[in-house]
Amino acid sequence: MHIDMNALKDNLQKLKNQIPTDITIIAVSKFQPIEKIKALYDTGHRDFGENYVQELVEKYEQLPKDIRWHFVGHLQSNKVKYIASFIHLIHGVDNLKLLKEINKQAAKYNRTVSCLLQIHIAKEETKFGLSKEEYFQLISSEELKALKNIKIIGLMGMATNTDNQEQIKKEFTELKELFDYTQKHNHSEIIQMQVLSMGMSNDYSIAIECGSNMIRIGTLIFGERKSIHKI
Ligand SMILES: *Cc1c(COP(=O)(O)O)cnc(C)c1O
Repeated sequence: MHIDMNALKDNLQKLKNQIPTDITIIAVSKFQPIEKIKALYDTGHRDFGENYVQELVEKYEQLPKDIRWHFVGHLQSNKVKYIASFIHLIHGVDNLKLLKEINKQAAKYNRTVSCLLQIHIAKEETKFGLSKEEYFQLISSEELKALKNIKIIGLMGMATNTDNQEQIKKEFTELKELFDYTQKHNHSEIIQMQVLSMGMSNDYSIAIECGSNMIRIGTLIFGERKSIHKI
């Protein structure tokens, strides 16, 4: 297999040159081989994102331990135990049951695990995430306040997969408003709105325009990935 590592590094550098320095780039490395991650690591990049627990664990074991691993997929409760000891940030949390399980597993390692709540902003019905009503219900629940080994440090969302820029902008703006509102009105210790994770290869510039401070980029850095998951 021939992999052009220089192209990879150039792609990341070009992206870094284009955006403000206070925006974190997560290199989403799902389906990508270890060597590619290592090549970016060697340039100093530390934030990588994965969607599948087993794939993440295998990569975690083989790669340097100062990588900040982001889980950006849909996490099932029964898999939390495999990543609780090392995960840096879990992006797609959308229910209390999952938060409780993350709390329980984090406690075993004496850690506080940071999470983002995923909000449903897209028009598609297939995407995960909380509605606004569910979101407000969740953040005001007494049960949430009892969880001492998690921290909710922000929100995550995915816009509709469309060419309609206005639609994307509308959805990201909605998420930013929710973020700002919570930042202003929240009095819970467990919730600290710092991270707004929105924007992927196709829509990251709109996301940044709308106030994102963390973008999750796969294709634009690594090139097309195989669509069928092998692990
Ligand atoms: C795969 C994935 C990404 C990266 O997508 P690209 O379009 O390749 O940049 C970002 N976020 C999530 C949640 C993903 O599943």
